[in-house]
Amino acid sequence: MADDTSRTVLLEQQVLAKNDGLAEQNRSWLAGHGVFTVNLMSSPGSGKTTLLARTVRDLGGELTISVAEGDQETSIDADRIRAAGAEVVQINTGTGCHLDAGMLAGALHSLRPPSGSVVFVENVGNLVCPALFDLGERCRVVVMSVTEGEDKPLKYPHMFRAADLVLINKVDLLPHVHFDMRRCVDGARRANPKVGVLPVSATRGDGLDAWYAWLRQAAPARA
Ligand code: MG
Ligand code: ZN
Repeated sequence: MADDTSRTVLLEQQVLAKNDGLAEQNRSWLAGHGVFTVNLMSSPGSGKTTLLARTVRDLGGELTISVAEGDQETSIDADRIRAAGAEVVQINTGTGCHLDAGMLAGALHSLRPPSGSVVFVENVGNLVCPALFDLGERCRVVVMSVTEGEDKPLKYPHMFRAADLVLINKVDLLPHVHFDMRRCVDGARRANPKVGVLPVSATRGDGLDAWYAWLRQAAPARA
């Protein structure tokens, strides 16, 4: 039994070490090509795709944006992003519950993002293991929504600990749900004292100017 446990731990360490090596290759390729990457992570249904489609529509004239879409099955989200006007590649993970650095390498190979552009990676909806897999991205943005409850940063601290920014989406629904914004922000800051937090509504537009300002400031100027 102890042997099985130690074998499992060893295998996990090997998987993560291999991923970290590929992530470093992605990171240096992206830096060398002047491509800015954002890894978007959340639970399913937080509104990542809606936020991305809106961002592509609103900033399309200003930034060159392409998207790597992760889902277990279907190209539903990739179709929505394409309709918004961005280059997109769909990664279907099958039984997999996260994206890894090898998958992003494959996506970059087909997207061929130009210098000075922004690549968004929409990770598989899951607040747990995507936090463990470095993709070689520049920034991590966690999207959560007011329908999920304010306790998520306390329950899934690893995801929030690794984030550069937390977007609290669907604030247009606040009158209809029990959601304590202050407790949520306090929870996120407990996991990660320096993290930025922006309340937004990807459908109604609240807070999007602040999100776009963050992006403009983080991303390099178009080459
Ligand atoms: Mg999606
Ligand atoms: Zn996973």
